[in-house]
Amino acid sequence: MAKTLDTVPVWDWGFFTEPKPCVIAGPCSAETEEQVMATAKGLVEQGIHMFRAGIWKPRTHPGCFEGVGAPALKWMQKAKQEYGLKICTEVASEKHVYECLKYGVDLVWLGARTTGNPFLVQEIADALRDTDIPVLVKNPMNPDLDLWIGALERLNGAGIKKLGAIQRGFTSYEKIRYRNNPQWQVAVELRSRYPELSIFTDPSHLAGKRDYIQELSQRSLDLGFEGLMIESHCNPVCALSDAGQQLTPEALGELLASLVVRTPEPALANKETIDQLRAQIDVIDENLLHTLGQRMKVSRQIGQYKKENNVAIVQASRWDSLLANMVEKSKAYNLPEEFVRDVFNAIHEASVQVQNEILSGEQPEQK
Ligand code: PEP
Ligand code: MN
Repeated sequence: MAKTLDTVPVWDWGFFTEPKPCVIAGPCSAETEEQVMATAKGLVEQGIHMFRAGIWKPRTHPGCFEGVGAPALKWMQKAKQEYGLKICTEVASEKHVYECLKYGVDLVWLGARTTGNPFLVQEIADALRDTDIPVLVKNPMNPDLDLWIGALERLNGAGIKKLGAIQRGFTSYEKIRYRNNPQWQVAVELRSRYPELSIFTDPSHLAGKRDYIQELSQRSLDLGFEGLMIESHCNPVCALSDAGQQLTPEALGELLASLVVRTPEPALANKETIDQLRAQIDVIDENLLHTLGQRMKVSRQIGQYKKENNVAIVQASRWDSLLANMVEKSKAYNLPEEFVRDVFNAIHEASVQVQNEILSGEQPEQK
């Protein structure tokens, strides 16, 4: 049963000022004092005042750089004092929370690997109880909106109201353009369930590659999300983690300057601009295409089976019952019956055509 979240919008946390986006930037990992200070200085020069760095790094393989740990918090504290920055890092246990509180960390976030573990989320929520530190929660590794919301609920239940979400995409087994599959519809659904909850996008981990960060950042703004968390390193190619996706502070400044911020139209009471609504339609259309592609793939496999087993392509009774079933189900989605019939007949026709081509040998063999 969905609960409401009692949250304070990001604009009232005291760190960020409009116009959008709120920017958090800094290296994937704090590596050395020099690297932290040089990156922090570069970011301040670009007008960025919320500095991130990973202190404890959850790595896929042991033996990779796993972060410097608590000593690196001293460097972040120094950057905070010297450049007047706010500082933030990822916490994955209550011990991390206590270390952060000791060193004056201004905001913490839960990483994707932590959000998926309710025991750890509860432990962190309990450790943060009675503090006023804002918390951002990355989506879990898999597109499980309820698991993401459950983590937000646990933190909110511990009295944390300066709460937000970070969309960093989902692990994909298929090879795709980006390192993570954005599946924007998950964050869009989160927004529609909790319109007051501030949402950041992490285009760096989504992209996995510098070249794609701009387009993902723009997409996030088009969807009306409030913030961006972007990895920036004074010398990206030498970074000890995520070297391929980090930008120099100067490159980040240029990227931010290139982004188009859409202004809300007062006529729309729900604060969504026409561009944001169109961006949502684009996401839905892409998903429709993906689903149609998946359907056709299965249809081709069936075509192959029919070929091998000498089965006729069209079994009228099967199609009639499928269509009747869809028409019945469509009522729950408030779709006109004629429209549903037209769409499914068109899908069926294309499917029969493809299977015909398989049977006649015009389509390549299916694996
Ligand atoms: C990070 O922000 O450095 C990080 C590890 O991200 P994620 O939890 O999204 O993998
Ligand atoms: Mn990283």
